[in-house]
Amino acid sequence: MRIVIVGGVAGGMSCAARARRLDESAEIIVLERGAHVSFANCGLPYFVGGEITDPDALLVQTPESLRAALALDVRPGNEAIAVDGTRKTVTVRSADGIEKIAYDALVLSPGASAFVPPIPGVDSPRVRTLRTVEDAMALSEKVTAGARRAVVLGAGFIGIEAAEALAAQGLVVSVVELAPQPLPPVEPELAWLVSEELRELGIDLHVGVAATSIHHGPDADTVVLADGTELIADLVVMSVGVRPDTGIFEEAGVACERGAMIVDNHGRTSIPGIWAVGDATLSVDPITGARRPVALAGPANRAGRLVADDILRPEIAREIPQPLGTAIVRVGSLTAALTGANRTALDSAGSRYRTLHLHANQHAGYFPGASQIHLVVHVDADTGRILGAQAVGAEGVDKRIDVLATAIRAGMTVDELIDLDLAYSPPYGQAKDAVNLTGMVGENVLNGSLTLWYATDLDEVLETALVLDVRRDDEWVTGHLPGALHIPHTELRERLDEVREQAAGRPVRVMCASGVRSAIAHRVLAHAGMDSASLSGGIFTLRATLGARAVDILEADGVLQGV
Ligand SMILES: Cc1cc2nc3c(=O)[nH]c(=O)nc-3n(C[C@H](O)[C@H](O)[C@H](O)COP(=O)(O)OP(=O)(O)OC[C@H]3O[C@@H](n4cnc5c(N)ncnc54)[C@H](O)[C@@H]3O)c2cc1C
Repeated sequence: MRIVIVGGVAGGMSCAARARRLDESAEIIVLERGAHVSFANCGLPYFVGGEITDPDALLVQTPESLRAALALDVRPGNEAIAVDGTRKTVTVRSADGIEKIAYDALVLSPGASAFVPPIPGVDSPRVRTLRTVEDAMALSEKVTAGARRAVVLGAGFIGIEAAEALAAQGLVVSVVELAPQPLPPVEPELAWLVSEELRELGIDLHVGVAATSIHHGPDADTVVLADGTELIADLVVMSVGVRPDTGIFEEAGVACERGAMIVDNHGRTSIPGIWAVGDATLSVDPITGARRPVALAGPANRAGRLVADDILRPEIAREIPQPLGTAIVRVGSLTAALTGANRTALDSAGSRYRTLHLHANQHAGYFPGASQIHLVVHVDADTGRILGAQAVGAEGVDKRIDVLATAIRAGMTVDELIDLDLAYSPPYGQAKDAVNLTGMVGENVLNGSLTLWYATDLDEVLETALVLDVRRDDEWVTGHLPGALHIPHTELRERLDEVREQAAGRPVRVMCASGVRSAIAHRVLAHAGMDSASLSGGIFTLRATLGARAVDILEADGVLQGV
């Protein structure tokens, strides 16, 4: 059996290693176009930023180490340029010329290439992508050679990592993003925290605007934005997304959808004897059914392993699960992470869902160093199934998102989160962990004991309802909504008549800092027969949702702004 694998990094090398472990006699050839195999692409930004100092650390394996350990025939500098699925051959170009290699099984893991938009001047030598070891070396060399100003185009995960890396090296960094916020898949009320953190890092953020041209100068380039802004750059990092690198495979007849190879639950393509994994394949979102490639290392690695099973031990091969798109990124002192569907995906799928906002401490509040995890969780309005979760915070974000990703994969409903036995002692968590609390809030919402209103409904609420602010006096004076009635939640039971009088038949929309006290107040009002609802996530989420508008609204009442 000869297995030929195209692409010698995440999916491809995972497949090769597993294939060897399953079959000592198979001949396994790995073709890699680039100079390196099995390199740590995810580590590249940290090399540029100087946290990883030894470039060899990025080369997890070499052809020699892979031959020694796994008897793999790894061929860097070998590019697959054509496939004949009928004759079962791959045509390969290398420094030695062109040859045809016959295969019994062909696995395609060619990944994705960085998309370079056709804007005038993009061919400047100062413009680089960040995709390969060579890209990282080139960026690093520019930094060492004295680059002082960088412009990063695209504020996705890699763009943010690149921006932080270059800022850490002392460069003046501007980030340009077409979407109205950095990290576009992150909900706006959390992305606001990321924007603030980028500014804390000294990064100049331009959102909601496109770069229209790059002018080449003798000493530096000028990146011109659609709003007329001109940004001087000694180097430009292009990170506006990736495209499946599938041209030759599509030409060979492998069925593709918008450039991504279509595979079945075992990674089989439309051509018998050819499998595909990783960034170059199409995934079906397990929550919404949306069809899109997922460019993440974990799914590529795991699919590579399962494809080897399907080739060599089909009787034991498990199906490749559809990825949830769980992802995480560090932004200065914060971590942002997400799993499952976001609001945009749920809206376009026409899902009926409820959104929960929580601002829970990552560990016991009385233990030094407590900080908040800001959580957004979407829950199916009918079944209670968890559909997606996102979090931003200084600590403990990774743990909560991983637990929630596990819960989504297990098909859990939100109330089942209450029952999770999570590790607890004061330096690590709370007896009611943020995940347990999510379950409690979700259960209350679904069984009707907690009715929520959302910051996005603010305009309507201000017109039609009485806003009742139940924070303490010292919180109230730092900023409040116009026309709101202020009664601290501890005084509410004695002052219900005041609420009734001011409401004058209107619904009461309660708010506090984070949603905890307003939920208590809501129960008091509901018990008294009033139509009430509690602001999801409190004024923290309100401010984050409204962004710049929050300043106007909270100042409109003539009090100090800031919450
Ligand atoms: C800077 C950076 C940071 C990242 N950080 C993260 C992260 O933190 N977390 C995360 O989950 N993911 C991250 N990713 C994404 C992750 O690296 C990819 O999702 C993953 O590597 C995809 O695996 P793959 O096997 O599909 O493709 P790759 O690992 O990209 O491998 C594809 C290989 O195929 C080779 N190839 C392509 N065509 C041919 C051909 N015709 N012939 C021969 N060889 C060919 C390419 O040269 C390439 O080396 C990051 C990516 C980058 C670039």
